[in-house]
Amino acid sequence: MRRPFIAGNWKMNLDRASAIALAEGVVREAGKCEGVDLAVCPPSVYLECVGKALARSSVGLGAQNVYHQKDGAFTGEISAAMLKDLGCRYVILGHSERRHVLGETDEEVNKKVLAALAAGLTPLVCVGELLTEREQGKTDEVIRRQFDRSLAGLTAEQLVQLVIAYEPVWAIGSGKVATPAQAQEVHLDLRRLMEQRYNKEVAQTVRIQYGGSVKPENAADLLALPDVDGALVGGASLKVDQFMGIVAGLKE
Ligand code: PEP
Repeated sequence: MRRPFIAGNWKMNLDRASAIALAEGVVREAGKCEGVDLAVCPPSVYLECVGKALARSSVGLGAQNVYHQKDGAFTGEISAAMLKDLGCRYVILGHSERRHVLGETDEEVNKKVLAALAAGLTPLVCVGELLTEREQGKTDEVIRRQFDRSLAGLTAEQLVQLVIAYEPVWAIGSGKVATPAQAQEVHLDLRRLMEQRYNKEVAQTVRIQYGGSVKPENAADLLALPDVDGALVGGASLKVDQFMGIVAGLKE
């Protein structure tokens, strides 16, 4: 069985004190939760202090990006080994804001995925269609292209080490959540794709999170879907009660 996994993407929010307070709040509440993996992904400058706040808890630390090179003259970039050194277990890759605001390509995401895996990090690889692409009936095509290109060259052993996050771009930060039917359709299609490209075991092993305006009010319906294995949460991960309210949706 796939263990549910709920991760908070704090994006470029909070300051040092509020990041530590949020992490401490999540740790306090996480002690009451069983049967779920939890992680928070603060801005990179707060990874170290948030990591300290998470110490000795089961809540994992994740970064929001990485650079694919090991080291060298890459001003402003951070390597996978550096993230590992700071205690990171996860790294979000190919988030739609990086793809669509910062121009990151599937090929760049692919290099980052390989670098993260080589350093022993678990990549949370995001895929998702724009509203225009959905309206043109191109959702499957876009998701399949992002999967094939962002994960090019990965062996089955590597694929089962990562997590995929289906995040329809139109649902991110917009308050417009995908319907359970829309989410399940894409998650199932991703599983079929993994079976075609790899095998049934891989398809049944890889966890697929849903992301896009997940809130305590809609979490239970999404998390109950057979092919949804958790959530990647943006806005609602910035408040302890909302984030933990989403986690509580697993039990409903
Ligand atoms: C995200 O950025 O990954 C996300 C899902 O954001 P939100 O929950 O705010 O839509």
